[in-house]
Amino acid sequence: MSFQKFGFEERILLGIEAMNYHLPTPVQEQVIPCIMAGKDVIASAQTGTGKTAAFLLPVLNRIVSNRQGDFIKCLIVVPTRELAIQISQHIEGFSYFVEVSSLAVFGGSDGAVFSNEKRALTQGADIAVCTPGRLISHLNLGYVKLDQIQVLVLDEADRMLDMGFLPDIQKIISYIPKKPQTLFFSATMPPRIRDLARKILVSPSEINIGLATPPAKIIQQGFKISEDKKIFLVNDLISSGTNFKSILVFCHTKAKVKELSRSLKKTQASVEEIHSDLGQSEREATLNRFKSRQTRVLVATDILARGIDVEDIDLVINYSVPYDAEDYVHRIGRTARVQADGHAFTLISPMEHRRFNAIEKFLGYEIPKLPLPETLVVKPQTENKNKAGTASDKSLVRRNRQSDSRKISRSGRYKQQGTS
Ligand code: AMP
Repeated sequence: MSFQKFGFEERILLGIEAMNYHLPTPVQEQVIPCIMAGKDVIASAQTGTGKTAAFLLPVLNRIVSNRQGDFIKCLIVVPTRELAIQISQHIEGFSYFVEVSSLAVFGGSDGAVFSNEKRALTQGADIAVCTPGRLISHLNLGYVKLDQIQVLVLDEADRMLDMGFLPDIQKIISYIPKKPQTLFFSATMPPRIRDLARKILVSPSEINIGLATPPAKIIQQGFKISEDKKIFLVNDLISSGTNFKSILVFCHTKAKVKELSRSLKKTQASVEEIHSDLGQSEREATLNRFKSRQTRVLVATDILARGIDVEDIDLVINYSVPYDAEDYVHRIGRTARVQADGHAFTLISPMEHRRFNAIEKFLGYEIPKLPLPETLVVKPQTENKNKAGTASDKSLVRRNRQSDSRKISRSGRYKQQGTS
């Protein structure tokens, strides 16, 4: 069934065609009719399911079929700048054939950016895509009018609560005098998310799209490895996986991102890092280079794990085991988007076994563990014929001492067994 059945205006259908969407995804099948019928919606849908178009298309249709003045008609609140930019790009793509203005409000330290946002907010745009903190800064100054909001979208609501935005969200809602149609998207539905939803939604349609289950086409594998050898394994996986053209590596901390990317840069041609120490424009430029495949390997903090729409990532490497199963699903969800297959490796240190078991329990299946490449296996002393150790043992010791992955021997490298 095509997008025609939803009753969109012809101009919206042209935009959908231009975006090369032929068939609605399951979340679009279920969510679009409810939004078109004017209902509040609560949907548990992960990034990668097509949820952005699921709310944007009915919103755009509503705006173009009832053209009104220059004021904000739809407010989309999102946890991160990256997600705000991504949604704005979708709006731009879909509204190629219609006149819809949109505005992204996500901050940055530059005073000129604030003034531009202020001007745009004062003039009014059809759709405003905002991060909570930045919108509050503008609301506090008194010139933002939210009194004509017809549709409010809260995207990645669980992430916003994780990031401590609940008071900001409540404050934003308090600025909207007349209850708008409210669309609530969250990858997970823990009790505090349900509480918030209960407070702000009226008789919502509830839609549950495969809550926190990784798409079946992602090949998931793990390695049991000591913490100090992880850097070498990542290097090895990247070097041997020549068929992986786009690789995202997640670490918990900025310090680890920096250390790993510094180490990888010694052997890999195309490595960049992204974390909160980079300025907004640097982050955007880095992400764009990765999206356009100028950069092959991007090492990122968890900040990128959710909501980022980078298409066709071939491989996600979890340098560290995520703290909960839902985060795991979000991280590996960067691969195997709508039309692509994906691959995910997780590096599991002894300290992380328990956490990884909990993830497997949550998923309901065990993730296969691959043997380590020979160069990373420490042989027991008694097996060595010669007390000084084999050549590869020596090189391993040297690598550990020097923290220099250039020294990795090419023998016995990981061959991607069972990965095709
Ligand atoms: P989202 O879950 O909204 O982040 O979407 C994930 C990716 O799927 C984005 O790159 C979308 O452009 C793409 N996408 C969404 N819906 C469709 C569709 N019906 N057909 C093809 N691609 C889609």
